[in-house]
Amino acid sequence: MRIANLAGRLAIIDGERAIDVERASGGRFEADPQAVFDVWDEFLHWAPAVDPATAEVFDPAQLGAPAPRPSQIFAIGLNYADHADESGMELPPEPAVFTKFQSCLAGPHATVELPTSTVDWEAELVVVVGREARGVPAERAWDHVAGLTVGQDISERTRQLVGTLPQFSLGKSFPGFGPTGPYLVTADELADPDDLEIGCSINGEVVQSSRTRCLIFSVPALIERISAVLPLRAGDLIFTGTPSGVGNARSPKRFLTDGDVLETWVGGIGRLRNILTAQADPGTDAD
Ligand code: ZN
Repeated sequence: MRIANLAGRLAIIDGERAIDVERASGGRFEADPQAVFDVWDEFLHWAPAVDPATAEVFDPAQLGAPAPRPSQIFAIGLNYADHADESGMELPPEPAVFTKFQSCLAGPHATVELPTSTVDWEAELVVVVGREARGVPAERAWDHVAGLTVGQDISERTRQLVGTLPQFSLGKSFPGFGPTGPYLVTADELADPDDLEIGCSINGEVVQSSRTRCLIFSVPALIERISAVLPLRAGDLIFTGTPSGVGNARSPKRFLTDGDVLETWVGGIGRLRNILTAQADPGTDAD
């Protein structure tokens, strides 16, 4: 199953058409896309019986973040060996966990403002939690996943790497720095949810290309390690890390500029298309 946030309303996606869940369920399920994760099992039970005749063609421009208000967002640094290598870092013995703050989330077609000239890209597979997870072993981890979506962990490298204690969470949380979507796809739709094509391009030039089987800590391993410390709640997100090919590791370094079109994909799930724009002129008193 594919679900989406369509103009702020939960929808089931059927090809080019969408079913509004609140209307199709007669109000049994709320329109709020975030609310469904609190009743995920009930929703999974109901959804197969929905009448496809109620589906209507939708405008992809109206797609928003599938889980727009998670209580927690986890993100993992250095989770592909080739990216750790290009960053000059050793492989981490435990997942390198930081957060992206909720206010950075954006839709799959959001325009993102560049606050500086050192903004970088990171294509990522994003996990959406469907059932609370506490102390869950890897073998049972997929049972706690609602589905997968595509994410961009957009990163302002100057802020991220400044000082003796780097500021990952702030440097990756400027407004719009967490586009996700276009859909949440349940794992049963994917031939192998642990081995998906992942990549991104700038103005059509592919800059990252890998597969999620190359993750150092797989989706189940991340759920095991994080849920050993704290509860993962329904609707939470995990940005699972990025493969090699980021701009900061290039020689010369390369960053996003005004007008760039950043496309990010995960096989079997879909594609984000985000346009970067220069920061609006803040103006001066002399105007
Ligand atoms: Zn990242």
